[in-house]
Amino acid sequence: MSELYERTACELVDLVKNGETSWGEVADAQFRRIAAVEDRVKAFMTVTEDAGRAAAQRADAGGDPFNPLSGVPGALKDNMCTRGILTTCSSKILHNWVPPYDATVTEKLMATGMVLVGKTNMDEFAMGSSTENSGFFTTRNPWDLNRVPGGSSGGSAAAVAAGEAVYALGSDTGGSIRQPAAFCGIVGMKPTYGRVSRFGLVAFGSSLDQIGPLTKDMRDCALVMNAIVGHDPNDATSVPMEAPDFTESLREDVRGLRIGRPKEYFPEEGIEPAVRDAVETALASLADLGAEIVEVSLPHTEYALPVYYLIAPSEASSNLARYDGVRHGYRTPGDVDMIEMYLKTRDEGFGAEVKRRIMLGTYALSAGYYDAYYRKAQQVRTLIARDFERAWEKVDLLLTPSTPTVAFPIGERADDPLAMYLNDIFTIPTNLAGLPALSLPCGFSPEGLPVGLQLIGKAFDEETLFRVGYTYERSTEWHRARPTLPP
Ligand code: GLN
Repeated sequence: MSELYERTACELVDLVKNGETSWGEVADAQFRRIAAVEDRVKAFMTVTEDAGRAAAQRADAGGDPFNPLSGVPGALKDNMCTRGILTTCSSKILHNWVPPYDATVTEKLMATGMVLVGKTNMDEFAMGSSTENSGFFTTRNPWDLNRVPGGSSGGSAAAVAAGEAVYALGSDTGGSIRQPAAFCGIVGMKPTYGRVSRFGLVAFGSSLDQIGPLTKDMRDCALVMNAIVGHDPNDATSVPMEAPDFTESLREDVRGLRIGRPKEYFPEEGIEPAVRDAVETALASLADLGAEIVEVSLPHTEYALPVYYLIAPSEASSNLARYDGVRHGYRTPGDVDMIEMYLKTRDEGFGAEVKRRIMLGTYALSAGYYDAYYRKAQQVRTLIARDFERAWEKVDLLLTPSTPTVAFPIGERADDPLAMYLNDIFTIPTNLAGLPALSLPCGFSPEGLPVGLQLIGKAFDEETLFRVGYTYERSTEWHRARPTLPP
């Protein structure tokens, strides 16, 4: 592995420090890689080459020598506001929207000296698991261009896996960081709800959304987490709490840790054998490394999907009411009265999945149905959170598959929303409970597609996830595998 675009952030920092390359050369290699493969991968909504190269020059001119991400090329999902740069959420209704302000995560990464390479494609408004719901085009999985990269942060995951960005941010409402990370063979972390500011993240399900890193390995994940966490007075749900230095948790030591294996996440049916085998093997190797594996049960797991598909659409139907063609984004052309303008703008601007969610949510919140659906879902959400609380009496973290299958072929589930929703069965409960979780590579299927395992932690205990994830990663070579995508 010798190409600059294949390197991790940490490796690049060492190369630059030793005078073997410069951030200008790194940016050069990065944009050349994008030019070479992007027409096949289609990870980006917008490529920001001029701004990226200018930032690389600043990094070479001194940058912030103490910042470990200064000069490193990264990408942002297109639902994170970037001042002066298109932020479309991959929706026709925002196709021309240029935000007048930066999201807090954008501001924080810019302050590290980030070389922004672009804004990544996603399922429209982050609703989906494959990027097939993008209002513009489908991103392809770099491991097999006929398969989906996962979603909704599919562009971010594909960009990192294909060497088009060293790291990227995604957002995760029900699995949208972890599922594409698993499908693309990289690391993806959803932090604890409240750990990372949502200010400037276009809202989908506000009680579930959380921003997190997609990276090539655990060390880079810790660096990006360090850069984006922290209290933000602009986000009332961000927690006023000092964040630790996550790189200090990168210790190869799992002795004495109790890892829970929730039996509901290893069902007899509905999971690919290759996925189950890889995850069981990972459990066994962690046991060899000194962890104790404990069987646990999370009995309300089966209700997580129906609960999520009431709560997330309810919040979405409220959040998306603002797109009415009046202030920004798309407005239907022609001479129509106001009501007609609202109706046509929304009809023409939103895609089918977004409309389905708005209808579901509006129904669940409507008078007469609110108690039966929305309130009931909130009550069951509490039961799901309590399942985890009980598990923490016995174990320090949980280990599960990230997804029931490896990346599926483009088109296979596009017309079957239920089959698509089922993909998130292992990731959704943690969003409902607000807990931190990460996906990291743990093997390959017989077709050569990556498999991911998920670690779930106690609230605000990302440190244990870093410790266990790092120890496991160091005992394998999975994270070094790169897809062959000839330039
Ligand atoms: N796939 C899930 C959905 O469609 C989760 C998406 C997400 O996490 N943003 O809602």
